[in-house]
Amino acid sequence: MADVVVVLNAGSSSLKFSVFAQDAEGDKPICRGQAEALTTAPRFVAKDATGNVLDERSWGEGVPLGHAGALDHLVAFLQRRLAGHRLVAVGHRVVHGGTEYRRPIHIDAEVVATLQKYIPLAPLHQPHNLAPIRALLEQAPELPQVACFDTAFHRAAPTVSQMFALPKSITDRGVLRYGFHGLSYEYIASVLPQYDAQAAAGRTVVLHLGNGSSMCAMAGGRSIASTMGFTAVDGLPMGTRCGSLDPGVILYLIDQLKMDTRAVEKLICQQSGLLGVSGISSDMRTLLASEAAGAKAAVDLFAYRIQRELGSLAAALGGLDAIVFTAGIGENSAVLRERVCRGAAWLGLQLDDLANAGGGPRISAPGSKVAAWVIPTNEELMIARHTRRLLGAVTGDHAATPGATTGASMARSTAS
Ligand code: AMP
Repeated sequence: MADVVVVLNAGSSSLKFSVFAQDAEGDKPICRGQAEALTTAPRFVAKDATGNVLDERSWGEGVPLGHAGALDHLVAFLQRRLAGHRLVAVGHRVVHGGTEYRRPIHIDAEVVATLQKYIPLAPLHQPHNLAPIRALLEQAPELPQVACFDTAFHRAAPTVSQMFALPKSITDRGVLRYGFHGLSYEYIASVLPQYDAQAAAGRTVVLHLGNGSSMCAMAGGRSIASTMGFTAVDGLPMGTRCGSLDPGVILYLIDQLKMDTRAVEKLICQQSGLLGVSGISSDMRTLLASEAAGAKAAVDLFAYRIQRELGSLAAALGGLDAIVFTAGIGENSAVLRERVCRGAAWLGLQLDDLANAGGGPRISAPGSKVAAWVIPTNEELMIARHTRRLLGAVTGDHAATPGATTGASMARSTAS
């Protein structure tokens, strides 16, 4: 009977999952999938490790399934799929761990109450992250659950890089630059030695460029600065988020345009970034394929802001040995990578065009002072590893975890 860990990543309108089984070499994905468009036209798909569809279902337009319905469907699927396996734990991606959590944590009711406090700091993500945790705590209390935070990797960054120039009384309330995408950066830090031992021990900027985008300066594999701040709206322009903004703009929106808090939130989180600038799409593929002036302006601004932030993070590191591209745009767009690398020529980065067109992994020319890499991220694997490690630490032997349960018994208790 193989031990498996289920990883859940609950977003605003989706519930993504991965199942990892352990063999002698570590965690191996055995299936993954998602329920998406949960409030509009819900769809569920699950695939095995080679991409074969195991299960698929659509509920049709206007049938809101919600997160609870999606979890029920997923549990029923896992009950069938994991019969014969032993589910030892569920690991969750949780966006905000605040000042309390510097590393993953075994979840209980007290932890949930603490994480609830951070909903105002991540209103678009945190409530959805917590929903399946609460549901499983209630319905399968014996099942160990672990929360892994996007903020944790940055908590050891120097104090100066975490501070805003605000009065101490406000800083003391936890108004800090937290940084996000930490699970992605931590994964890259864990595999970078296999690609470039010198960069792993030295100064690297990782560019996580996806629908959400940020950059992280790492010294010896540890975060020392990042482009995101108190919330995941700061830093680079993103699919629909504006990135860094003069706080005076917010005051102008409120005072002069008479926008209330929710309207400002919607504007800066859902209507800005690539979508807002282009007026066309938040999707980089669509913009790169478009001839429209708005699309060009959005891509230009995205590349320009990356270039500026790269200079800033290289300064924070006191020099640069390597950059790493990851996430949807970073892993797949040779055009964007080329623009970023050309803009970094002054730092000593020379692009290998052929290697870049081929997707790397090394895309810098031989002899380039700064190396450039394309490395696929794997936040789910990072969560699975943390979950197993933590369970091992809690129980001494995760196979003997008192809460260990079969897929069938998890489903029985969650379906009740
Ligand atoms: P992620 O959030 O990491 O899934 O990344 C999503 C983003 O990656 C979207 O903006 C996609 O348009 C973008 N993306 C995926 N594939 C490509 C590609 N081949 N070229 C450009 N952008 C891409």
